[in-house]
Amino acid sequence: MKQRLKHSFSPFNPFARLGIQKYSTTLPVITTVATAVGIELIINNLLNNPDGVALPAIFVFIGLIVYFAFRDGVKGGILTTVATLTYYLYIIYSRNYSAQQLQTGLETVFILSILYTAIAVIIGWLKQTLDVVIISEVKAREAAEEGKVRLESVLDQMPVGVVLVDARNNTVHANNHIENILGRKLVSEIPDDKTHTSPDLAYLNGKLIKPSEWPVTRALQKGEKVFAEEMEIVKPDKKKIILRVNAVPIKNSKGEIVAAVSTLDNVTAEKEQEVRKDDFINMASHELKTPITSMNLYLELLERNLKKSKDTKSLKTLKSIQNQTERIQELINDLLDVSRIQTGKLIFRKQTFDLNLVVQESIETLENLAERRRIIFKPANSLLIFADRFRIYQVLTNLISNAIKYSPAGTDIVVSAYKSGSKIRVDVEDYGIGIEKTEVDKIFERLYQVADRTEKTFPGLGMGLYISKEIITRHKGKLWVESEKGKGSIFSFTLPLNSGKTTT
Ligand code: ADP
Repeated sequence: MKQRLKHSFSPFNPFARLGIQKYSTTLPVITTVATAVGIELIINNLLNNPDGVALPAIFVFIGLIVYFAFRDGVKGGILTTVATLTYYLYIIYSRNYSAQQLQTGLETVFILSILYTAIAVIIGWLKQTLDVVIISEVKAREAAEEGKVRLESVLDQMPVGVVLVDARNNTVHANNHIENILGRKLVSEIPDDKTHTSPDLAYLNGKLIKPSEWPVTRALQKGEKVFAEEMEIVKPDKKKIILRVNAVPIKNSKGEIVAAVSTLDNVTAEKEQEVRKDDFINMASHELKTPITSMNLYLELLERNLKKSKDTKSLKTLKSIQNQTERIQELINDLLDVSRIQTGKLIFRKQTFDLNLVVQESIETLENLAERRRIIFKPANSLLIFADRFRIYQVLTNLISNAIKYSPAGTDIVVSAYKSGSKIRVDVEDYGIGIEKTEVDKIFERLYQVADRTEKTFPGLGMGLYISKEIITRHKGKLWVESEKGKGSIFSFTLPLNSGKTTT
Protein backbone atom coordinates (compact mmCIF):
# COMPACT_ATOMS: atom_id res chain seq x y z
CA MET A 1 0.00 0.00 0.00
CA LYS A 2 2.77 2.36 1.04
CA GLN A 3 4.67 1.45 -2.07
CA ARG A 4 1.63 2.10 -4.29
CA LEU A 5 1.03 5.49 -2.65
CA LYS A 6 4.61 6.46 -3.15
CA HIS A 7 4.36 5.38 -6.77
CA SER A 8 1.10 7.24 -7.48
CA PHE A 9 2.53 10.46 -6.02
CA SER A 10 5.81 10.24 -7.85
CA PRO A 11 4.69 12.52 -10.77
CA PHE A 12 4.26 15.26 -8.15
CA ASN A 13 7.35 14.45 -6.13
CA PRO A 14 10.15 16.48 -7.74
CA PHE A 15 12.83 14.29 -6.13
CA ALA A 16 11.34 11.20 -7.77
CA ARG A 17 11.63 12.97 -11.12
CA LEU A 18 15.37 13.65 -10.82
CA GLY A 19 17.04 12.15 -13.87
CA ILE A 20 13.82 12.43 -15.95
CA GLN A 21 14.14 15.02 -18.66
CA LYS A 22 10.37 15.43 -19.29
CA TYR A 23 9.50 19.03 -18.46
CA SER A 24 5.75 19.80 -18.41
CA THR A 25 4.25 22.96 -19.93
CA THR A 26 0.61 22.60 -18.93
CA LEU A 27 0.98 21.60 -15.28
CA PRO A 28 2.83 24.79 -14.12
CA VAL A 29 0.43 27.06 -16.05
CA ILE A 30 -2.77 25.28 -14.95
CA THR A 31 -1.66 25.04 -11.32
CA THR A 32 -0.67 28.72 -11.14
CA VAL A 33 -3.87 29.88 -12.85
CA ALA A 34 -5.95 27.65 -10.54
CA THR A 35 -4.13 29.05 -7.49
CA ALA A 36 -4.78 32.63 -8.69
CA VAL A 37 -8.46 31.85 -9.28
CA GLY A 38 -8.63 30.25 -5.81
CA ILE A 39 -7.09 33.30 -4.18
CA GLU A 40 -9.46 35.59 -6.10
CA LEU A 41 -12.45 33.55 -4.88
CA ILE A 42 -11.24 33.71 -1.28
CA ILE A 43 -10.68 37.44 -1.51
CA ASN A 44 -14.04 38.18 -3.12
CA ASN A 45 -16.25 35.83 -1.12
CA LEU A 46 -14.75 35.02 2.22
CA LEU A 47 -12.61 37.85 3.41
CA ASN A 48 -13.47 41.20 4.87
CA ASN A 49 -9.89 42.42 4.70
CA PRO A 50 -8.47 41.43 1.27
CA ASP A 51 -5.13 43.24 1.87
CA GLY A 52 -4.25 40.65 4.56
CA VAL A 53 -3.99 38.02 1.79
CA ALA A 54 -1.29 39.86 -0.18
CA LEU A 55 1.74 38.66 1.80
CA PRO A 56 0.75 34.96 2.14
CA ALA A 57 -0.15 35.02 -1.59
CA ILE A 58 3.38 36.21 -2.45
CA PHE A 59 4.85 33.25 -0.53
CA VAL A 60 2.42 30.82 -2.13
CA PHE A 61 3.54 31.95 -5.59
CA ILE A 62 7.24 31.86 -4.65
CA GLY A 63 6.60 28.30 -3.42
CA LEU A 64 5.00 27.43 -6.76
CA ILE A 65 7.91 28.89 -8.74
CA VAL A 66 10.45 26.96 -6.63
CA TYR A 67 8.39 23.77 -6.94
CA PHE A 68 7.94 23.92 -10.72
CA ALA A 69 11.49 25.06 -11.38
CA PHE A 70 12.64 21.98 -9.42
CA ARG A 71 10.06 19.77 -11.13
CA ASP A 72 10.12 21.05 -14.72
CA GLY A 73 13.41 22.91 -15.02
CA VAL A 74 13.88 26.48 -16.28
CA LYS A 75 10.78 26.12 -18.47
CA GLY A 76 8.55 25.17 -15.49
CA GLY A 77 9.95 28.01 -13.36
CA ILE A 78 9.57 30.68 -16.06
CA LEU A 79 6.01 29.60 -16.99
CA THR A 80 4.96 29.82 -13.33
CA THR A 81 6.66 33.21 -13.04
CA VAL A 82 4.85 34.55 -16.14
CA ALA A 83 1.47 33.25 -14.91
CA THR A 84 2.08 34.74 -11.46
CA LEU A 85 3.11 38.16 -12.80
CA THR A 86 0.09 38.21 -15.12
CA TYR A 87 -2.12 37.64 -12.09
CA TYR A 88 -0.33 40.44 -10.20
CA LEU A 89 -0.97 42.83 -13.12
CA TYR A 90 -4.61 41.72 -13.19
CA ILE A 91 -4.90 42.64 -9.50
CA ILE A 92 -3.36 46.06 -10.03
CA TYR A 93 -5.59 46.97 -12.95
CA SER A 94 -8.80 45.47 -11.61
CA ARG A 95 -8.80 47.25 -8.21
CA ASN A 96 -9.48 50.89 -9.14
CA TYR A 97 -6.16 52.05 -7.71
CA SER A 98 -5.16 55.70 -7.73
CA ALA A 99 -2.36 56.74 -10.05
CA GLN A 100 0.03 56.76 -7.11
CA GLN A 101 -0.99 53.24 -6.01
CA LEU A 102 -0.76 52.05 -9.61
CA GLN A 103 2.74 53.42 -9.85
CA THR A 104 3.83 51.71 -6.61
CA GLY A 105 2.11 48.45 -7.66
CA LEU A 106 3.87 48.38 -11.03
CA GLU A 107 7.23 49.07 -9.40
CA THR A 108 6.64 46.20 -6.95
CA VAL A 109 5.66 43.84 -9.78
CA PHE A 110 8.80 44.84 -11.68
CA ILE A 111 11.08 44.08 -8.69
CA LEU A 112 9.23 40.81 -8.02
CA SER A 113 9.56 39.84 -11.69
CA ILE A 114 13.38 40.10 -11.44
CA LEU A 115 13.42 38.14 -8.18
CA TYR A 116 11.05 35.41 -9.45
CA THR A 117 12.91 35.05 -12.76
CA ALA A 118 16.23 34.70 -10.92
CA ILE A 119 14.76 32.01 -8.63
CA ALA A 120 13.18 30.19 -11.61
CA VAL A 121 16.39 30.24 -13.69
CA ILE A 122 18.79 29.27 -10.88
CA ILE A 123 16.67 26.42 -9.48
CA GLY A 124 15.61 25.28 -12.97
CA TRP A 125 19.22 25.24 -14.18
CA LEU A 126 20.28 23.27 -11.06
CA LYS A 127 17.52 20.71 -11.68
CA GLN A 128 18.51 20.31 -15.37
CA THR A 129 22.22 19.96 -14.51
CA LEU A 130 21.35 17.33 -11.91
CA ASP A 131 19.28 15.48 -14.54
CA VAL A 132 22.21 15.41 -16.96
CA VAL A 133 24.64 14.16 -14.28
CA ILE A 134 22.24 11.48 -13.03
CA ILE A 135 21.40 10.29 -16.55
CA SER A 136 25.06 9.96 -17.56
CA GLU A 137 25.80 8.09 -14.34
CA VAL A 138 22.87 5.73 -14.87
CA LYS A 139 23.98 5.15 -18.46
CA ALA A 140 27.57 4.44 -17.37
CA ARG A 141 26.29 2.02 -14.72
CA GLU A 142 24.05 0.29 -17.26
CA ALA A 143 26.91 0.04 -19.76
CA ALA A 144 29.21 -1.45 -17.10
CA GLU A 145 26.49 -3.89 -16.05
CA GLU A 146 25.83 -4.84 -19.67
CA GLY A 147 29.57 -5.28 -20.29
CA LYS A 148 29.82 -7.51 -17.21
CA VAL A 149 26.89 -9.67 -18.32
CA ARG A 150 28.34 -9.94 -21.83
CA LEU A 151 31.80 -10.83 -20.49
CA GLU A 152 30.34 -13.45 -18.17
CA SER A 153 28.37 -15.08 -20.97
CA VAL A 154 31.48 -15.09 -23.19
CA LEU A 155 33.49 -16.67 -20.34
CA ASP A 156 30.78 -19.30 -19.82
CA GLN A 157 30.97 -20.24 -23.51
CA MET A 158 34.72 -20.82 -23.38
CA PRO A 159 35.82 -24.44 -23.56
CA VAL A 160 38.20 -23.99 -20.61
CA GLY A 161 37.69 -23.02 -16.97
CA VAL A 162 38.16 -19.29 -16.37
CA VAL A 163 38.56 -17.57 -12.99
CA LEU A 164 38.64 -13.81 -12.42
CA VAL A 165 40.10 -12.66 -9.11
CA ASP A 166 40.09 -9.09 -7.80
CA ALA A 167 42.94 -7.27 -6.05
CA ARG A 168 41.72 -8.49 -2.63
CA ASN A 169 41.98 -12.15 -3.69
CA ASN A 170 38.21 -12.56 -4.04
CA THR A 171 36.87 -14.68 -6.85
CA VAL A 172 34.80 -12.26 -8.93
CA HIS A 173 33.72 -14.80 -11.50
CA ALA A 174 34.32 -18.47 -12.17
CA ASN A 175 32.70 -19.83 -15.31
CA ASN A 176 30.65 -23.05 -15.52
CA HIS A 177 33.59 -25.13 -16.70
CA ILE A 178 35.47 -24.60 -13.45
CA GLU A 179 32.88 -26.66 -11.62
CA ASN A 180 32.89 -29.34 -14.35
CA ILE A 181 36.67 -29.60 -14.26
CA LEU A 182 37.22 -29.51 -10.49
CA GLY A 183 34.01 -31.31 -9.55
CA ARG A 184 33.21 -28.59 -6.99
CA LYS A 185 32.58 -24.89 -6.66
CA LEU A 186 35.56 -22.61 -6.39
CA VAL A 187 36.32 -20.99 -3.03
CA SER A 188 35.13 -17.39 -2.92
CA GLU A 189 38.43 -16.18 -1.53
CA ILE A 190 41.93 -17.39 -2.41
CA PRO A 191 43.32 -18.69 0.90
CA ASP A 192 46.76 -17.88 2.26
CA ASP A 193 49.32 -20.56 3.06
CA LYS A 194 48.32 -20.76 6.75
CA THR A 195 44.54 -20.91 6.40
CA HIS A 196 44.58 -23.21 3.37
CA THR A 197 43.35 -26.73 4.02
CA SER A 198 42.26 -28.53 0.85
CA PRO A 199 42.05 -29.45 -1.97
CA ASP A 200 45.71 -29.54 -2.77
CA LEU A 201 47.28 -28.69 -6.07
CA ALA A 202 50.55 -30.46 -6.78
CA TYR A 203 53.22 -30.33 -9.47
CA LEU A 204 53.47 -33.42 -11.65
CA ASN A 205 56.45 -34.58 -9.57
CA GLY A 206 54.13 -34.73 -6.53
CA LYS A 207 55.39 -31.56 -4.80
CA LEU A 208 52.50 -29.67 -3.21
CA ILE A 209 51.81 -26.13 -4.40
CA LYS A 210 51.04 -23.62 -1.65
CA PRO A 211 48.33 -21.03 -2.35
CA SER A 212 51.05 -18.35 -2.57
CA GLU A 213 52.55 -20.33 -5.49
CA TRP A 214 49.29 -20.87 -7.37
CA PRO A 215 49.50 -19.30 -10.83
CA VAL A 216 46.63 -16.89 -10.13
CA THR A 217 48.26 -15.69 -6.89
CA ARG A 218 51.61 -15.20 -8.63
CA ALA A 219 49.89 -13.19 -11.38
CA LEU A 220 48.04 -11.08 -8.82
CA GLN A 221 50.82 -10.55 -6.30
CA LYS A 222 53.96 -10.60 -8.43
CA GLY A 223 52.56 -9.59 -11.83
CA GLU A 224 53.85 -12.86 -13.32
CA LYS A 225 52.48 -14.19 -16.59
CA VAL A 226 52.13 -17.94 -16.16
CA PHE A 227 51.92 -19.97 -19.35
CA ALA A 228 50.84 -23.61 -19.72
CA GLU A 229 52.00 -24.81 -16.29
CA GLU A 230 50.95 -28.38 -15.61
CA MET A 231 49.79 -29.57 -12.22
CA GLU A 232 47.55 -32.19 -10.71
CA ILE A 233 44.63 -32.06 -8.34
CA VAL A 234 42.53 -34.69 -6.59
CA LYS A 235 38.82 -34.27 -7.27
CA PRO A 236 36.21 -34.86 -4.52
CA ASP A 237 35.57 -38.31 -6.07
CA LYS A 238 39.30 -39.04 -5.40
CA LYS A 239 40.13 -39.05 -9.13
CA LYS A 240 43.42 -37.39 -9.95
CA ILE A 241 43.37 -35.04 -12.92
CA ILE A 242 46.08 -33.07 -14.71
CA LEU A 243 45.45 -29.37 -15.24
CA ARG A 244 47.14 -27.00 -17.66
CA VAL A 245 47.00 -23.54 -16.11
CA ASN A 246 47.63 -20.05 -17.47
CA ALA A 247 47.38 -16.82 -15.48
CA VAL A 248 47.94 -13.15 -16.25
CA PRO A 249 47.64 -9.96 -14.20
CA ILE A 250 45.16 -7.26 -15.26
CA LYS A 251 46.47 -3.72 -14.85
CA ASN A 252 44.73 -0.35 -14.79
CA SER A 253 45.85 2.66 -16.85
CA LYS A 254 48.42 3.53 -14.15
CA GLY A 255 49.98 0.08 -14.46
CA GLU A 256 48.73 -1.13 -11.06
CA ILE A 257 47.51 -4.72 -10.79
CA VAL A 258 43.78 -4.64 -10.11
CA ALA A 259 42.81 -8.22 -10.90
CA ALA A 260 44.06 -11.46 -12.40
CA VAL A 261 42.58 -13.97 -14.78
CA SER A 262 43.46 -17.64 -14.87
CA THR A 263 42.41 -20.40 -17.25
CA LEU A 264 42.33 -24.08 -16.35
CA ASP A 265 42.10 -26.96 -18.76
CA ASN A 266 41.76 -30.64 -17.94
CA VAL A 267 44.50 -32.28 -20.02
CA THR A 268 44.42 -35.71 -18.35
CA ALA A 269 43.27 -37.54 -21.50
CA GLU A 270 45.83 -35.68 -23.64
CA LYS A 271 48.60 -36.59 -21.19
CA GLU A 272 47.59 -40.23 -21.07
CA GLN A 273 47.62 -40.27 -24.87
CA GLU A 274 51.09 -38.71 -24.82
CA VAL A 275 52.35 -41.36 -22.39
CA ARG A 276 50.90 -44.10 -24.61
CA LYS A 277 52.56 -42.52 -27.67
CA ASP A 278 55.92 -42.27 -25.85
CA ASP A 279 55.61 -45.89 -24.74
CA PHE A 280 54.88 -46.92 -28.30
CA ILE A 281 57.84 -44.97 -29.74
CA ASN A 282 60.09 -46.42 -27.07
CA MET A 283 58.93 -49.96 -27.73
CA ALA A 284 59.02 -49.60 -31.52
CA SER A 285 62.54 -48.16 -31.53
CA HIS A 286 63.79 -50.95 -29.24
CA GLU A 287 62.15 -53.52 -31.53
CA LEU A 288 63.74 -51.91 -34.61
CA LYS A 289 67.18 -51.74 -33.05
CA THR A 290 67.79 -55.51 -33.09
CA PRO A 291 66.99 -56.21 -36.76
CA ILE A 292 69.02 -53.15 -37.85
CA THR A 293 72.05 -54.34 -35.87
CA SER A 294 71.79 -57.79 -37.55
CA MET A 295 71.33 -56.14 -40.95
CA ASN A 296 74.53 -54.15 -40.40
CA LEU A 297 76.43 -57.31 -39.53
CA TYR A 298 75.15 -59.10 -42.68
CA LEU A 299 76.00 -56.04 -44.79
CA GLU A 300 79.57 -56.04 -43.41
CA LEU A 301 79.86 -59.74 -44.24
CA LEU A 302 78.55 -59.11 -47.73
CA GLU A 303 80.97 -56.20 -48.17
CA ARG A 304 83.93 -58.41 -47.28
CA ASN A 305 82.83 -61.07 -49.79
CA LEU A 306 82.20 -58.54 -52.56
CA LYS A 307 85.59 -56.96 -51.93
CA LYS A 308 87.18 -60.42 -52.25
CA SER A 309 85.39 -61.08 -55.53
CA LYS A 310 86.15 -57.48 -56.67
CA ASP A 311 82.52 -56.94 -57.68
CA THR A 312 82.69 -53.12 -57.80
CA LYS A 313 79.20 -52.63 -59.21
CA SER A 314 77.55 -54.60 -56.38
CA LEU A 315 79.87 -52.89 -53.86
CA LYS A 316 78.49 -49.51 -54.97
CA THR A 317 74.92 -50.72 -54.50
CA LEU A 318 75.86 -52.12 -51.11
CA LYS A 319 77.32 -48.75 -50.07
CA SER A 320 73.97 -47.11 -50.83
CA ILE A 321 72.16 -49.72 -48.73
CA GLN A 322 74.67 -49.14 -45.90
CA ASN A 323 74.06 -45.36 -46.06
CA GLN A 324 70.32 -45.88 -45.81
CA THR A 325 70.60 -48.31 -42.88
CA GLU A 326 72.92 -45.82 -41.17
CA ARG A 327 70.20 -43.18 -41.58
CA ILE A 328 67.60 -45.55 -40.06
CA GLN A 329 70.05 -46.30 -37.24
CA GLU A 330 70.44 -42.57 -36.54
CA LEU A 331 66.67 -42.08 -36.46
CA ILE A 332 66.24 -45.00 -34.07
CA ASN A 333 69.01 -43.64 -31.86
CA ASP A 334 67.30 -40.23 -31.80
CA LEU A 335 63.94 -41.83 -30.93
CA LEU A 336 65.59 -43.79 -28.13
CA ASP A 337 67.29 -40.63 -26.84
CA VAL A 338 63.98 -38.75 -26.83
CA SER A 339 62.35 -41.49 -24.79
CA ARG A 340 65.39 -41.61 -22.46
CA ILE A 341 64.97 -37.86 -21.87
CA GLN A 342 61.24 -38.33 -21.24
CA THR A 343 61.84 -41.05 -18.70
CA GLY A 344 64.87 -39.38 -17.12
CA LYS A 345 67.18 -42.17 -18.28
CA LEU A 346 69.67 -40.20 -20.34
CA ILE A 347 72.93 -40.98 -18.58
CA PHE A 348 76.29 -39.29 -19.18
CA ARG A 349 79.72 -40.88 -18.99
CA LYS A 350 82.00 -37.92 -18.42
CA GLN A 351 85.72 -37.61 -19.06
CA THR A 352 88.21 -34.80 -19.64
CA PHE A 353 89.00 -34.09 -23.29
CA ASP A 354 89.94 -31.33 -25.71
CA LEU A 355 86.83 -29.96 -27.42
CA ASN A 356 88.89 -28.90 -30.50
CA LEU A 357 89.44 -32.55 -31.34
CA VAL A 358 85.76 -33.44 -31.11
CA VAL A 359 84.81 -30.48 -33.33
CA GLN A 360 87.45 -31.58 -35.83
CA GLU A 361 86.14 -35.15 -35.78
CA SER A 362 82.53 -34.15 -36.36
CA ILE A 363 83.52 -31.88 -39.25
CA GLU A 364 85.50 -34.74 -40.84
CA THR A 365 82.52 -37.09 -40.52
CA LEU A 366 80.19 -34.59 -42.17
CA GLU A 367 82.54 -33.25 -44.85
CA ASN A 368 81.37 -35.78 -47.46
CA LEU A 369 77.75 -34.61 -46.88
CA ALA A 370 78.69 -30.95 -47.31
CA GLU A 371 78.80 -31.19 -51.10
CA ARG A 372 79.87 -27.77 -52.40
CA ARG A 373 79.77 -26.09 -48.99
CA ARG A 374 83.04 -25.17 -47.26
CA ILE A 375 83.23 -25.97 -43.54
CA ILE A 376 85.75 -23.61 -41.96
CA PHE A 377 86.97 -24.44 -38.45
CA LYS A 378 88.47 -21.75 -36.21
CA PRO A 379 89.93 -23.65 -33.24
CA ALA A 380 91.46 -22.24 -30.04
CA ASN A 381 94.36 -23.41 -27.87
CA SER A 382 93.47 -26.46 -25.77
CA LEU A 383 89.81 -26.34 -24.71
CA LEU A 384 89.67 -28.92 -21.95
CA ILE A 385 86.22 -29.85 -20.74
CA PHE A 386 84.81 -32.51 -18.46
CA ALA A 387 81.83 -33.92 -20.31
CA ASP A 388 80.33 -36.90 -22.11
CA ARG A 389 82.50 -36.96 -25.27
CA PHE A 390 80.04 -38.95 -27.36
CA ARG A 391 77.09 -36.71 -26.43
CA ILE A 392 79.02 -33.49 -27.19
CA TYR A 393 80.05 -35.03 -30.52
CA GLN A 394 76.33 -35.75 -31.09
CA VAL A 395 75.43 -32.07 -30.44
CA LEU A 396 78.15 -30.85 -32.80
CA THR A 397 77.13 -33.22 -35.60
CA ASN A 398 73.51 -32.15 -35.17
CA LEU A 399 74.35 -28.42 -35.40
CA ILE A 400 76.79 -28.81 -38.30
CA SER A 401 74.53 -31.19 -40.27
CA ASN A 402 71.62 -28.73 -39.78
CA ALA A 403 73.89 -25.93 -41.06
CA ILE A 404 74.57 -28.06 -44.15
CA LYS A 405 70.93 -29.09 -44.55
CA TYR A 406 69.50 -25.58 -44.25
CA SER A 407 71.99 -23.64 -46.40
CA PRO A 408 72.53 -23.65 -50.16
CA ALA A 409 75.51 -25.27 -51.87
CA GLY A 410 78.39 -22.87 -52.45
CA THR A 411 78.07 -21.10 -49.07
CA ASP A 412 80.45 -21.35 -46.12
CA ILE A 413 79.79 -22.84 -42.71
CA VAL A 414 82.01 -21.41 -40.01
CA VAL A 415 82.60 -23.31 -36.77
CA SER A 416 84.46 -21.42 -34.04
CA ALA A 417 85.48 -22.77 -30.65
CA TYR A 418 86.91 -20.42 -28.03
CA LYS A 419 87.14 -19.51 -24.36
CA SER A 420 84.60 -16.96 -23.15
CA GLY A 421 85.16 -16.02 -19.50
CA SER A 422 84.90 -19.16 -17.39
CA LYS A 423 83.18 -20.98 -20.23
CA ILE A 424 83.92 -22.61 -23.53
CA ARG A 425 81.83 -21.43 -26.42
CA VAL A 426 81.16 -22.93 -29.83
CA ASP A 427 79.43 -21.06 -32.67
CA VAL A 428 78.16 -22.81 -35.79
CA GLU A 429 77.37 -20.16 -38.38
CA ASP A 430 75.65 -20.66 -41.71
CA TYR A 431 74.40 -18.38 -44.49
CA GLY A 432 71.29 -20.39 -45.22
CA ILE A 433 67.51 -20.04 -45.00
CA GLY A 434 67.49 -18.65 -41.44
CA ILE A 435 64.61 -18.87 -38.98
CA GLU A 436 61.62 -16.60 -38.44
CA LYS A 437 61.71 -14.74 -35.06
CA THR A 438 58.45 -16.36 -33.98
CA GLU A 439 59.91 -19.83 -34.51
CA VAL A 440 63.23 -19.30 -32.74
CA ASP A 441 62.13 -20.63 -29.34
CA LYS A 442 59.98 -23.42 -30.73
CA ILE A 443 62.69 -25.19 -32.74
CA PHE A 444 64.14 -26.56 -29.48
CA GLU A 445 60.85 -28.28 -28.66
CA ARG A 446 60.36 -31.99 -29.18
CA LEU A 447 59.38 -32.96 -32.76
CA TYR A 448 59.19 -29.33 -33.87
CA GLN A 449 59.96 -28.44 -37.47
CA VAL A 450 59.45 -25.06 -39.12
CA ALA A 451 56.36 -25.45 -41.30
CA ASP A 452 57.10 -22.96 -44.08
CA ARG A 453 58.88 -25.10 -46.62
CA THR A 454 57.93 -23.42 -49.87
CA GLU A 455 61.01 -24.00 -51.95
CA LYS A 456 62.60 -27.17 -50.73
CA THR A 457 61.82 -30.05 -48.42
CA PHE A 458 64.28 -31.10 -45.74
CA PRO A 459 64.23 -34.57 -44.25
CA GLY A 460 64.12 -34.88 -40.46
CA LEU A 461 61.79 -35.39 -37.53
CA GLY A 462 62.62 -32.37 -35.39
CA MET A 463 64.37 -34.31 -32.61
CA GLY A 464 67.99 -33.15 -33.01
CA LEU A 465 67.79 -29.74 -31.36
CA TYR A 466 65.57 -31.05 -28.56
CA ILE A 467 68.14 -33.72 -27.72
CA SER A 468 71.07 -31.27 -28.12
CA LYS A 469 69.45 -28.73 -25.80
CA GLU A 470 68.88 -31.41 -23.15
CA ILE A 471 72.51 -32.60 -23.42
CA ILE A 472 73.95 -29.08 -23.12
CA THR A 473 71.57 -28.04 -20.31
CA ARG A 474 72.37 -31.20 -18.34
CA HIS A 475 76.07 -30.29 -18.71
CA LYS A 476 75.25 -26.93 -17.05
CA GLY A 477 75.63 -25.10 -20.34
CA LYS A 478 73.37 -23.12 -22.66
CA LEU A 479 72.31 -23.63 -26.28
CA TRP A 480 70.68 -20.86 -28.28
CA VAL A 481 70.33 -19.43 -31.77
CA GLU A 482 70.55 -16.02 -33.36
CA SER A 483 68.99 -15.99 -36.77
CA GLU A 484 67.53 -13.83 -39.50
CA LYS A 485 65.11 -15.23 -42.04
CA GLY A 486 66.82 -15.53 -45.43
CA LYS A 487 70.25 -14.49 -44.10
CA GLY A 488 71.43 -17.41 -41.97
CA SER A 489 71.78 -18.60 -38.41
CA ILE A 490 74.37 -18.85 -35.65
CA PHE A 491 73.76 -21.73 -33.24
CA SER A 492 75.92 -21.32 -30.14
CA PHE A 493 76.49 -23.30 -26.98
CA THR A 494 78.55 -22.81 -23.88
CA LEU A 495 79.95 -25.39 -21.47
CA PRO A 496 81.80 -24.89 -18.19
CA LEU A 497 85.57 -25.01 -18.58
CA ASN A 498 87.14 -28.04 -16.90
CA SER A 499 88.02 -26.82 -13.41
CA GLY A 500 90.08 -29.93 -12.71
CA LYS A 501 87.20 -31.67 -10.93
CA THR A 502 86.28 -35.03 -12.28
CA THR A 503 82.97 -35.49 -10.49
CA THR A 504 79.70 -35.20 -12.41
P1 ADP B 1 65.35 -31.63 -38.04
O1 ADP B 1 66.49 -30.90 -38.64
O2 ADP B 1 65.54 -33.09 -38.02
O3 ADP B 1 64.03 -31.23 -38.60
P2 ADP B 1 66.12 -30.32 -35.58
O4 ADP B 1 65.61 -30.47 -34.19
O5 ADP B 1 67.58 -30.50 -35.75
O6 ADP B 1 65.27 -31.28 -36.49
O7 ADP B 1 65.71 -28.87 -36.07
C1 ADP B 1 64.41 -28.38 -35.83
C2 ADP B 1 64.01 -27.34 -36.87
O8 ADP B 1 64.81 -26.18 -36.70
C3 ADP B 1 64.30 -27.78 -38.29
O9 ADP B 1 63.22 -28.50 -38.81
C4 ADP B 1 64.52 -26.47 -39.01
O10 ADP B 1 63.28 -25.94 -39.40
C5 ADP B 1 65.09 -25.57 -37.96
N1 ADP B 1 66.56 -25.44 -38.09
C6 ADP B 1 67.51 -26.12 -37.40
N2 ADP B 1 68.74 -25.72 -37.75
C7 ADP B 1 68.57 -24.74 -38.68
C8 ADP B 1 69.48 -23.92 -39.43
N3 ADP B 1 70.79 -24.02 -39.30
N4 ADP B 1 68.94 -23.02 -40.30
C9 ADP B 1 67.59 -22.91 -40.41
N5 ADP B 1 66.70 -23.65 -39.76
C10 ADP B 1 67.17 -24.56 -38.89
